[in-house]
Amino acid sequence: MHDHKECTECRQFLEILSDYHDGELEEELVARFELHMNDCERCQAVVKTFRQTIVYYRTTRCKAVPREVHSGLITALRACMDSEE
Ligand SMILES: [Zn+2]
Repeated sequence: MHDHKECTECRQFLEILSDYHDGELEEELVARFELHMNDCERCQAVVKTFRQTIVYYRTTRCKAVPREVHSGLITALRACMDSEE
């Protein structure tokens, strides 16, 4: 069954995913994120998708990913989570 508490945590992590990926997240949050991710296939998939998109962008554009791409991706992933409810 759907676990609402877990769902809330997933959303919180989605908000900080960009910082996590940039290595700008506080150590305590990184530890919490990774602990949660160990038990959460959905967050594992989200991080994987996020990384793949960033890598793809970098290899094709040869430059840093603009903020719009980050936020557009987060919005898409959030919509994906919403559709699962
Ligand atoms: Zn999660």
